[in-house]
Amino acid sequence: MKFGGTSVEDAVAMERTAAIVRGRRERGLDAIVVVSAMAKVTDHLLAAAAAAGRDDKAGALAISARLRHRHIDTASDLLDAERVERVHPAIHREFDALDDLLRGIAAVGELTARTNDLVVSFGERLSSQMVAAAFEQRGLNGVHVDARTCIITDSHYGKAAPQEAAIEEKLRELVLPLVVAGKTPVMGGFIGSNAEGITTTLGRGGSDYTAALVGGGLHAGAIEIWTDVNGIMTTDPRICPDALRVKTISFEEAAELAYFGAKVLHPATILPAVQKSIPVWVLNSRNAENEGTKITATPVKCASPFKSIAAKKRLTIIDIVASRMLMSHGYLKAVFDVFDKYKCAIDMVSTSEVSISLSVDSNQRLPEICEELGKIADVKMEGNKALVCLVGEDIRGHNGIAGRVFGAVSHVNLRMISQGASEINMSFMIDEEDVEEAVRSLHQAFFVDPDENVFDVTARVQVAGKA
Ligand code: ADP
Ligand code: ASP
Ligand code: MG
Repeated sequence: MKFGGTSVEDAVAMERTAAIVRGRRERGLDAIVVVSAMAKVTDHLLAAAAAAGRDDKAGALAISARLRHRHIDTASDLLDAERVERVHPAIHREFDALDDLLRGIAAVGELTARTNDLVVSFGERLSSQMVAAAFEQRGLNGVHVDARTCIITDSHYGKAAPQEAAIEEKLRELVLPLVVAGKTPVMGGFIGSNAEGITTTLGRGGSDYTAALVGGGLHAGAIEIWTDVNGIMTTDPRICPDALRVKTISFEEAAELAYFGAKVLHPATILPAVQKSIPVWVLNSRNAENEGTKITATPVKCASPFKSIAAKKRLTIIDIVASRMLMSHGYLKAVFDVFDKYKCAIDMVSTSEVSISLSVDSNQRLPEICEELGKIADVKMEGNKALVCLVGEDIRGHNGIAGRVFGAVSHVNLRMISQGASEINMSFMIDEEDVEEAVRSLHQAFFVDPDENVFDVTARVQVAGKA
């Protein structure tokens, strides 16, 4: 069971989390709990690290001081006197260590990826200790496990790759015996360590990934991702308030959605679960009665072509126009080698005889990449782009889908279009400022008469009833 930042954002949320876990235990199920840092804490820690890196020691320590108060206050609200007496000093020790680290970064005047990982790791280290103490107090036999002892990764700081065989071994050695003894292990998501024991992280949103690694590694009966919405929705409810809950979605569809920007699940989450056919559920910790979304190996039949619409912002389009013999042998390789050298992932590609357009995450290395590409072609870079992606297993069997998609966004300027790579997504690039409008138009066009077997329409009935 993984609980995201909003599910542990304060004492009240942690209390709800305890109630949900109790519900599972009362049904005779064993649970291993993975928690994120308290909501927004990771952002603040990153800001503190960045401030220290630019020699703003006072700024960094001020952020840390605010976080220290928040954690201390939450522990006071959450725990009885006996546990406060134990947990408060533990929190202070962590923050003392964090402050030392921030001072060190400021003194050196340089923030490395390795140190950055160490700074952000404090969020999950703290939240997991507090939740474990809360579970202990509430009769759930909570026991804290430092995730860094079992989530073994490579040394790619900031986005480390888990070593699944080593993780499985550690889980069997350190976590399984606790479960067998009737305990509820609580560990932080997102963080791990490499073979030398140096702290690493799995990338933003990585707590989902931890849950999948733990669930996959121990062949759990199910993986539950508890968050702040009723499940996977037909689009981000923040963009489109009338988004509907998708009752079931296939692994492939969910993976595609996550990769193309649906923040509700980390892109890599699904894999360890698929490989072992473990069902994954996305559930709402603020509305635990809701059925959520079940992610299943095989897709269910659905009358609508799409299950959900995702959008990913902060992308850049790079147009590469070769002046000489273009699509000659080896040319694409030369282009992709440059991206490979800078470890820059490409989202979308489209080619013509003389040009290639690519979309990539906007990042600081783009000027260097473009300079290097400039040796073999004319290069143009355009930022502030976004990718909109419609996902559904049923695109295959339907005619005229593209016409409906492009008809719905006929008022928006499309820069690149792609369909077919996976046969379950159709995507295009537009200006960032057009995203909300495009997503709402598409949602209106495709979910006006949803298939009730796949989508929960009761929310819509309530809205209609009110009107
Ligand atoms: P957590 O802290 O629990 O990991 P996240 O903020 O990472 O939560 O993910 C949940 C958020 O994902 C929701 O609040 C919602 O705004 C966003 N989201 C984006 N796309 C979707 C979608 N298709 N369905 C549900 N939520 C989505
Ligand atoms: N706390 C980390 C983040 O905000 C990991 C997570 O919440 O999944 O990215
Ligand atoms: Mg998340």
